[in-house]
Amino acid sequence: MTDNSKGQQISLEAKDPFELRINHGQHVSETEVRATLASGDMGFVHSFTTGSTVDGPGVRVVAWLTGCQFRCVYCHNPDTWRMTNGVPVTVDRAKAELRKYRHGLKTMKGGFTVSGGEPLMQDRFVVKLFTAARAMGIHTALDSNGYLGGRLTDEDLETIDLVLLDIKAWDPERHRRVTGMDVDPVLNFARRLAALKKPVWLRYVLVTGLTDDPEDIAQIANFATSLGNVQRADVLPFHQLGAFKWKQLGIEYELRDAAPPSKETVERTCAQFRTAGLKAY
Ligand code: SF4
Repeated sequence: MTDNSKGQQISLEAKDPFELRINHGQHVSETEVRATLASGDMGFVHSFTTGSTVDGPGVRVVAWLTGCQFRCVYCHNPDTWRMTNGVPVTVDRAKAELRKYRHGLKTMKGGFTVSGGEPLMQDRFVVKLFTAARAMGIHTALDSNGYLGGRLTDEDLETIDLVLLDIKAWDPERHRRVTGMDVDPVLNFARRLAALKKPVWLRYVLVTGLTDDPEDIAQIANFATSLGNVQRADVLPFHQLGAFKWKQLGIEYELRDAAPPSKETVERTCAQFRTAGLKAY
């Protein structure tokens, strides 16, 4: 199968995930998509980026996959929502892409992170990528909203060194308001990772007036601390770098006038995580 309907191969490398990418896999039939998801022999990839220092320890190569079942009102990459916006890529091509960086990643004590979108929409592909990365001696990290964590067996989880778990809100109604989905599966996945003693970095996107409620944050901070496997909390201040994507995709963007949170609010939120006993950045 070729990358697009014209039979051309599309480069997987992007400067960053803010490149708008759409319709690259629209020629793939639904039957093929289903077969692909079941086997994991092919996946849909927005892009590969290099040089990240925020998506796990050291310097990372990040594979941004397409497909997400959340509809976060602050999403920076709504072009990753539809799986067939991504480039259809065989697992062998993705492995070859990763292989290019393996020596550098080891030297820089970095690794390979799979993000999205929501990577677990393509769980079999993700496990194949991580298995390959491990065979190359590369550290692996999964960046996930956690909702589909139940798709991973304990054996699958053994291919993952670190989970970057996004908890979007504590209060169920707020979670639904922010993401359109329930919070319980996310928290259940967090508990399961704790039972397995899997290292986790918690990620929390901070938006003024939406996710800056101190009580909600305290609940998340206390929950994360109680788990015992959360190594740090990363507070991610909302920004508008992805705003142009909403516009170009013609999706109503309710945060179009929202400003990034103030330095004080970011510091206060980090302080809440620290008070609960976590390192926070
Ligand atoms: S989970 Fe991530 S990719 Fe999905 S809608 Fe939310 S922010 Fe966007």
